[in-house]
Formats: sequence, C-alpha cells, structure tokens
Amino acid sequence: MEYAALVDVYDRLAATASNNEKRDILAEAFAGAGDLLPRLVVLARGRLFPAYDRGELGVSSSLTLEAVLAATGAAEAEVRERWRETGDLGDAAAWAVDNGGQQTLFSRELTVERVHDDLRGLADYEGEGSQGRRVDALAGLVSDATADEARYVVRTALGHLRVGVGEGTIRDAIAVAFLDGEEGSVDAVERAYQVTNDFAVVAETARDGGVDALGELDVELFRPIQLMLAEKAETLGDGLSDAAADGGEAVRCEYKYDGIRIQVHVDGDDVRLFTRRLEEVTTQFPDVVRAVREGTAGTATERAVFDGELVGYAPETIREESRSPVVFQTLSRRVKRESDIEAMVGEIPVVVHLFDCLYDGETTLDRPAAERLERLEAAFSPVDPDPEGGVAGLERAASASASPEDPDSAATLYEEALERGHEGLMMKNAAAAYQPGRRVGRMLKLKPTMEPLDLVVTRAKYSEGRRSEWLGRLYLACYDSETDEHREVGRLSTGYTDEELADLTEELEARVVNREGRLVELKPEVVLEVAYEEIQSSTEYDSGYALRFPRFLGVRPDLGRGDADTLDRVESLFDSQ
Ligand code: ATP
Repeated sequence: MEYAALVDVYDRLAATASNNEKRDILAEAFAGAGDLLPRLVVLARGRLFPAYDRGELGVSSSLTLEAVLAATGAAEAEVRERWRETGDLGDAAAWAVDNGGQQTLFSRELTVERVHDDLRGLADYEGEGSQGRRVDALAGLVSDATADEARYVVRTALGHLRVGVGEGTIRDAIAVAFLDGEEGSVDAVERAYQVTNDFAVVAETARDGGVDALGELDVELFRPIQLMLAEKAETLGDGLSDAAADGGEAVRCEYKYDGIRIQVHVDGDDVRLFTRRLEEVTTQFPDVVRAVREGTAGTATERAVFDGELVGYAPETIREESRSPVVFQTLSRRVKRESDIEAMVGEIPVVVHLFDCLYDGETTLDRPAAERLERLEAAFSPVDPDPEGGVAGLERAASASASPEDPDSAATLYEEALERGHEGLMMKNAAAAYQPGRRVGRMLKLKPTMEPLDLVVTRAKYSEGRRSEWLGRLYLACYDSETDEHREVGRLSTGYTDEELADLTEELEARVVNREGRLVELKPEVVLEVAYEEIQSSTEYDSGYALRFPRFLGVRPDLGRGDADTLDRVESLFDSQ
C-alpha cells in the first residue's frame, strides 16, 4: 500500500471533529488493508509499539530536525522559523520538502510497509554511532517523501500524530470493520485489547475469527494486562452502597495503601514485576522477586498473575505490626535507581500487599472477586520482610467485610488505615469480575481530603530573578479522553524546593518541542500531583476551568499522559464544590 493513501486517511481524520466519522474512515481503511492490517493499525494510532512494550524509538526533536535538514537541504534558520510558527515539526518538514531545493534523483515511492518498518527499526540501533544511523534512516524516509508524507513521517517518529484518534476510536473502528458492529462487538474488542494491550493482535483476531476468537484471547504470562482502576467515593456510606450494587451484597474493604501498583507474573522461579503503566521493574526489586519465589514455592500453583500494592516502610519499623509507610516520593527512589540496587533493599524496605489473583494456571478475570480472593490465598503463603536477608515482605492487603446495612467494620478499618499512615479505604464488590483498564463503580476509594489532581505539564516559562535558570512556571492540563488531547487548567509556580525545581527543569527540558523567548512548549509527558484551593470557571484556559492557588506536591513518574485526571473529573469536582 502506498504511504500516500495512508496520508490521505490522516488528512481526512484531521479534517473532521466527529468521532463517528473518524471511526468510519478508519474502519474502511482497516477493512481494505489485507496483510498490512497490523502495520496499519499501529500507524493509525501513531504509536509504533504496543503499550506493554514501550520500546523507545530514540528519536528527539533535534535529531528529527537534523534529518529533515539533511534530506531537504533547507536552511536551518528557516525550518526553525516554520517550526516556531506552527508549533509542529511535521509542518515544518513539509515546508522544507517543498522549499529546500534538494532534488532526489532516484526517489523510491514510500509504502506503508517501509515507513512502519524503518521507523520501528530506529529503536534497534544501539551503541556508538547509533544516533547518526537514526538520522540517516529518518533522512532516507524524508528524502523520498512528498511534503504531505514528510509531515506524517516526522509526526509518527516523534509519537504525536495530531489527527485526534484515541484508543476508543481504534477500538470502535475494529468492531465496525470486522464485526459489523454486531451486538457486544465493541465490548469484545475492548476486553481483548485489555488483556493483550496490542491493537494489531486484536484487529487480526477480529478479522480472522470474529467475536468468539476475541473471547479466547487470554492473559499470557509476562505480557502485562491493564489494571482495574477505582472510582472515588465521597463518603463511606456512598462507597459501600455503590460497591454493593448489582448483587454483591458483601463488600470487601481493604486499606488503601500509598505505594506503587504492581502486577506480579510468576512462572516457577521466573518472577517479573510490572507497574500500572505496564513498565517492567523487576530489576529494581530483587527483594520482591525473592519474596514471591519463597511465597509461591510451597503451593500447588506454578504459574500465576497477582495484583497488589508495593509499599515502602521506615526500616526501623519494618518488623512491627504497625509499620510506618514512607511517602511515595521516597519509594519512587527505588524505581529510579539503576546501580547499587541491593543497597536500597535495606534503606527503603518494602512489603507487597496482594489483593487480587488474575491467573493461576487459567484466567480468573471472569470469576467473582470473592472467588479470586480464595484463589489468591491458595496461591501464596505470606513472607515476613527481612531486609538484611534481602527479602521483601509479601502479604494480603489488610481487609474486612462490610455492607451498607452493616458499615461498622468498614469504618473501623478506615480509621485504622489512617491511623497507621495509609491513604484511605478501598471498597470492592465481592461478586464482580475483574475489568482490566476500567475505572468502574465496583471498586471505590475513599480518602479524607479534597483530592489533589494529577496533571500534565504542556508549556513552561523560565522564572524571573534568583530562579531564572529554571522552568518555574508550569502550565498544567487535564486529559480529554474524547479527543486524546490535553486541556489547560492553570499555571503552577509554588510548592517546590530548589532541588525539586532543578530536577523538574531537567525533565522538562528534555521534552521541549518549541521555544519562544522564555516560554517553551513541551511534549505532554510529565505528570505532576497538584493541590489547590478551588476550581473556578475561566476563559483563560482551553478547558474552561482554572485552579485557584495550585501547589506542587510531587512528580508522578508512574503516570503517563493518558493517566492524568480527565476533563470530566475536573468538571465533576467543579460541580461538587
Ligand atoms: P490515587 O491518586 O488516589 O492513588 P490513582 O489515580 O493513582 O488514584 P486509582 O485507580 O484512582 O488510582 O486508585 C486506586 C489506586 O490505589 C490503585 O491503582 C492502587 O495503586 C492503589 N491501591 C492501594 N491500595 C489498594 C487496594 N487495597 N486495592 C486496590 N488498589 C489499591
């Protein structure tokens, strides 16, 4: 398939704001793709790797600029000027192709196959000279591209297609293309995506085997699945009745720990750990690996997937019944650490509190929560933490059973959790199936204060005066899941220490896509946790809202751009004030 045909699809997608039209444009393209379907599905989203395999392409905007200049012969200052004007290096590349003056004698027409494979290949270059080879490969594509093609090659390389296609649109398009929008087809595609995290696999399965084959796609060890998320309860009573709805009278209540959500995959001695963003963190937690080996050794279950929260504790309290949890920022040092990892085991000892079992030789996702819990208990025995011996703790999350009519045990557990320094209470429907990737009313969280928001930094300005080296004024945005874009809700300039600000500046400077004086535009990748006094309606920002007195609480390295709080959430918080 010619890449030009895909470019035409992109242009049509960008030209309509209607999600239904976008879905139909994509469905038509998928239906006619033949052998190219997996590649096309991947390119339609502009993400070259499935979510569980975050292979970085290793492409920065400066590397891309270099490739554009080499391929087109355009003058750097002029291309930069276009880039600054449009805020998009893709548009600047298109301009450079038309105006660069370079004639390619033996230009080879771009195909979908070549663009996909060459771009994916960028991730494989390693070692010395790899940057240079990436520039050459990318320049090779751009020099064979028309202006329109160059625009999308560059945007795909940078991971931001700008055609307004989110996961939901791809899901719906697959259902329309191959399942005739049959009843339940969207749900079938969604479920299949949540257990595989790979739209290419899902699309081929839908085409070749229909809804039945999608239903057979299953949890595979070492391919992380998306975790079930919680909704917020305003009060204990609300939480219990929401969790008890749909027939699950008994509500399982647990401590809400403040740590790292962790998915544990076990195949005999082979143990691997994944975060909520599906990133593998096995090497960072050798103590957890040992604990899981020890805890599963004596059981009948050889192969399993568990869901739990990994929590750091003050070393001097680790053996006490009432241990003191450390704050998330401290624990996250263990995730970032690359060398001398064993030393951290004693410095920040951890306990994994397991609360679900998603697989124990067969998938348990469809089983009621109460049964999954029984299977969890059968699949491991608790392990006491032993930091000196290099072993983490492994135990069940502290829990109690309650109901809307009989809330006392829930109230007691909630108080106990807060007293011990944990974050709050989780309430879970005991009859509900596990719903990967969904934020559902079957799992509710209760916390005492007005909840901070997790927001993405989209633009930033250098401070004035003493801190003028640092990006101290940050524009914050929530996530609009409808359009897969970010909407600004305010500007943050307080709450950080000098050290935090210096670190943050370094993180942000690595993501600059455009500079204009002291203002920089950023790839929307850094998520911050932000407290505030109130949400006001405002015309200053494109969300229609503004946070009053936003204050920096911390960076959330465990969250990605799509995990930020949504525009819907901001709206409902605004309404509830
Ligand atoms: P928050 O900022 O409140 O942690 P979040 O956006 O990170 O929210 P939510 O899904 O809203 O995530 O809240 C659930 C999170 O709470 C889980 O992802 C998990 O990391 C954590 N958690 C702590 N204890 C439990 C528990 N017992 N059961 C489930 N999740 C728990």
